[in-house]
Amino acid sequence: MADTKNNKESLVFQAEVSKLLDLMANSLYSEREIFLRELISNSADACEKLRYEALSKKGLLGKEKELKINIRVSKKKKIIEVEDNGIGMSRQDLIDNLGTIARSGTNKFIEAMKTKKGDDLSSIGQFGVGFYSSYMVADSVKVLSKSAELEESFLWSSKGKDNYIVESFSKENRGTIVTLNIKKDSDEFLDSFRLRSIITKYSNYIPFPIYLKDLDNKEKEEKINEGNPLWLKDKKNIKPEDYKQFYNNISFNFDEPLKTIHYNAEGVINYRALLYIPTNQPMDLFQQDRKNKIKLYVQKVFITDDCDEIIPNWLRFIPGVIDSQDISLNISREMLQNNPVITKIKKGITTKILNEITTFSSKEVDTYHKFWSNFGAVIKEGLYEFNDHHDKILPLLRFQTSESEDLISLDDYLKKMKSDQKEIYYFANTDKDHIKNSPQLEGFIANKIPVLFMTDAVDEFWLQNIQKFKEKEFKSITKGKVDLSKLKKDSDKKDNINKNVTKINDLINVLKKELEAKISNVIISDRLTKSPILLVADETSMDINMEKLMKMHNKKTQDSKKILEINVDHPMIIKLSETLTKVDHKKLSNLLLDQANILDGNVLSNPTNYIESLTDLFIKP
Ligand code: ADP
Repeated sequence: MADTKNNKESLVFQAEVSKLLDLMANSLYSEREIFLRELISNSADACEKLRYEALSKKGLLGKEKELKINIRVSKKKKIIEVEDNGIGMSRQDLIDNLGTIARSGTNKFIEAMKTKKGDDLSSIGQFGVGFYSSYMVADSVKVLSKSAELEESFLWSSKGKDNYIVESFSKENRGTIVTLNIKKDSDEFLDSFRLRSIITKYSNYIPFPIYLKDLDNKEKEEKINEGNPLWLKDKKNIKPEDYKQFYNNISFNFDEPLKTIHYNAEGVINYRALLYIPTNQPMDLFQQDRKNKIKLYVQKVFITDDCDEIIPNWLRFIPGVIDSQDISLNISREMLQNNPVITKIKKGITTKILNEITTFSSKEVDTYHKFWSNFGAVIKEGLYEFNDHHDKILPLLRFQTSESEDLISLDDYLKKMKSDQKEIYYFANTDKDHIKNSPQLEGFIANKIPVLFMTDAVDEFWLQNIQKFKEKEFKSITKGKVDLSKLKKDSDKKDNINKNVTKINDLINVLKKELEAKISNVIISDRLTKSPILLVADETSMDINMEKLMKMHNKKTQDSKKILEINVDHPMIIKLSETLTKVDHKKLSNLLLDQANILDGNVLSNPTNYIESLTDLFIKP
């Protein structure tokens, strides 16, 4: 290893990296041991990348056919080395990869740390913070690397402060050696028994052999990890802890798997699948650029973890491995698109996962409700896209209702329906409090007609796609006319004999005339019991909440004209109809419309007018 002293360059870390390094070096933490998990995981990735490249580039592996990871430790020298003979890094790779922050998990970690006290890194193990975690245990780190496709090799080194050095440095074989100079307070990690237990704890199922050698004694290096691909083993021989560790390795989730789905598909397409349902919601679940977490292998050879087509996006929270001998080893990643084998695998695993979810939805209700609160909104995306799974997804849905906070399914709803009820009533709004306090619900609550609360933004979208469940149509109670006459309790079926129908009609006509430009119609409400007035969307136009959502995304969306419903049993409406001749019709009409808007949670365009009219009413009642 002669130092040629060529091309030596000192570079400054990206600001976020410096911040992260500072956190790593100066904090108190309880899970420092994860640095080794992170380095081994990088080495395994480098081996997988090389093995994949070698499929199309003959001779790339050269003489070193066995891909492996070597860990060396010396108490005397106070060093730990992690070496792999994987893909290696060029000079530019070293700068791009180890001078900036690439991994979204790391950014998340920094975000999370900002909201915590500076010295609390206790939950660091839940984040994949990658290479930089070396600085938890090391005061300086060297990375010597030779790319599999280049002759030159380079040394990256840094004390983990503001800058790092990159220089030419000779290295015989391809791959990477990361050397950590262990800090005084971390010398516990210089013990080879400790390292062995960390490797088996976190990295047992890394699919390359991991060898450990204590440089201070003469004993031979020893292979530590199990290594054989877990997904190919017989289920009978796999312990729950093995499944868990593998799950943690592949997903970068550090919770327990809620369910493990491990099976062999034989038939038209043969593949082996090991899939997990997580317990907790991954932090980046709703991030736009989030990809699925499925790794695709062909006969134990890693092909890609970037195949959109292998699992629907609405199951993107499921990590796992698919290994199939029915895909050609020489397949390029591009050729995976529109590949009939992949399409069949996708269909197979989707059905399998939905079956598993269906089973535990009825057998383990509490667990299922927790699962639903974490992943329900994502699964509903599956109803918005065109696919064959709607019949399996719909029974999985759970909702709170106007009757109780307890979650119910659509089947439960059908059982609760009144005998004359033809439609499944729902109220869609992401603000549950708004729904609960909304006048739209009054008539339903008074008559004990259940209404489903649809509180995920995605609800509005899938409801446009799915009109019915078991022949019953979904009906928004914020849109169009709701005819509750048949469903009302007898005590509520008051006839209008005592009301002065002419006067009410006069009021309706006044409102229609004065508000002609602003609303499409004025009708007598069937659903109001307490509030005097209400705005609803026209049957043919967009649901009110949908319109608000669309406006948030596209400011140009035109306001559609609403229907004004009035409660003719309300004392205010009765009084107004009786005193109609004594008041200014324009002011009265606008005042009522403003009230309806306030009830609907809208901001008034001219609050001054509203207050003036209201004040007028007080002064000249
Ligand atoms: P991540 O592994 O999540 O991308 P890291 O900070 O751990 O984040 O590593 C950054 C990048 O550095 C990796 O994506 C990879 O490209 C490169 N890298 C790290 N270690 C190695 C290695 N042993 N061999 C080849 N490349 C590596």
